[in-house]
Amino acid sequence: MSFDSLGLSAEILRAVSEQGYSEPTPVQKQAIPLILEGRDLLAGAQTGTGKTAGFTLPLLQLLSQRPGKSARKPRALVLTPTRELAAQIGENVEAYGRHLSLKSTVIFGGVKINPQIDRLRRGVDILVATPGRLLDHVGQKTLDLSAVEILVLDEADRMLDMGFIHDIKKVLALLPRKRQNLLFSATYNSTIRQLADGLLDNPAQVEVAQRNTTAERVSQRVHPVDKARKRELLSWLIGDGEWRQVLVFTRTKHGANRLAEQLGKDGISAAAIHGNKSQGARTKALAGFKQGDIRVLVATDIAARGLDIDQLPHVVNYELPNVPEDYVHRIGRTGRAGREGEAVSLVCVDEHKLLRDIEKLLKKPIPSQVIEGFEPDPSIPAEPIQMGRGSRNGGQRNGGRNGGGRPRHAGQARGQGGNGSRKGAGRERGGNQRRSRAA
Ligand code: AMP
Repeated sequence: MSFDSLGLSAEILRAVSEQGYSEPTPVQKQAIPLILEGRDLLAGAQTGTGKTAGFTLPLLQLLSQRPGKSARKPRALVLTPTRELAAQIGENVEAYGRHLSLKSTVIFGGVKINPQIDRLRRGVDILVATPGRLLDHVGQKTLDLSAVEILVLDEADRMLDMGFIHDIKKVLALLPRKRQNLLFSATYNSTIRQLADGLLDNPAQVEVAQRNTTAERVSQRVHPVDKARKRELLSWLIGDGEWRQVLVFTRTKHGANRLAEQLGKDGISAAAIHGNKSQGARTKALAGFKQGDIRVLVATDIAARGLDIDQLPHVVNYELPNVPEDYVHRIGRTGRAGREGEAVSLVCVDEHKLLRDIEKLLKKPIPSQVIEGFEPDPSIPAEPIQMGRGSRNGGQRNGGRNGGGRPRHAGQARGQGGNGSRKGAGRERGGNQRRSRAA
């Protein structure tokens, strides 16, 4: 099946073929015709499925087909949890809409607000935004949402996890009643269902790639290794496998910094990306990584959310995540849109329980392989997982997540100080960016 049969205009098809896409992905096949019909949509699709084009292409088409009531006010609003994701969606809107005359812009926190105000003043049709900064603009009366015809909530589950529910509700109250609503979420729970029930009018439903299943093309492997030797093993794997572009996950910001530094000392170019870095530093690190100047990008879970790097071949879990679903999100960074990918986890004795939880979620064991010379020392006892120091609720555990219905690991999350349940901790408010989670 080609894109031609989906009902998209010649200008959009041209842009799609310039992207090199020959065939629509399953979510695109299903969602595009429904959105073009004007239906509300509840879509279960995780990143890597091509969901962004799935809503962006028909959205562009609908807006370009009908005249807007106002030349200046946004006609479509895409809400998204993180700055990186917002930036990426913005890039996609630009790319797919390059032969149309619609204007788009992206607004998120952590950067100056004035250039955003200027752009909004000049008029935009499509606005991609994180909730906090969006509301800042509304508060300053630099943004009027009264002409929004189409609303997209992207990665709705993540937005709820990050404590954005109140901001989302505030935004909804500012929109015209009559509009088309599209809700995309990788997972469902009762909070998402409630949100969907209140938001969507007789929605069509689309579900691709079963929830919580890992992309089939990603080959997964566990290397058991002692904690103290993980860095050495990682350097060896990168060198031996001649890996050129590797995304490495650590649990904490501090751990990310330290690992990037140590890899640098091993002669492997590396940069860390997390919420304590300025937006400029994050953008620079990502650009360097995409261009191949930086071989290893070390990231925390939240920072990596929304990173879309073409053909990312290697993902390494330097430390397993505390929340099993994050494993699925992490390895979703590779094997994207049908490409092959490899996800490797370095697992020490402390992490066996986390590994079991992940395998339970995947409903299958992950093949394990001891690397010669890196055999774990069986006399080393398991210790409680150390969380990041210096962060308000003790680092990157389940802080702020209980709203998202994700399982909590009482044994790890508690007993280390803090209750890990600061709702709203991950807001993207201008000027006050620091998340209490190690993002
Ligand atoms: P997403 O799930 O929206 O984050 O998209 C994942 C990746 O798939 C992005 O790099 C897109 O550029 C790419 N992509 C989207 N649609 C297609 C398609 N029909 N064919 C090939 N790649 C695609």
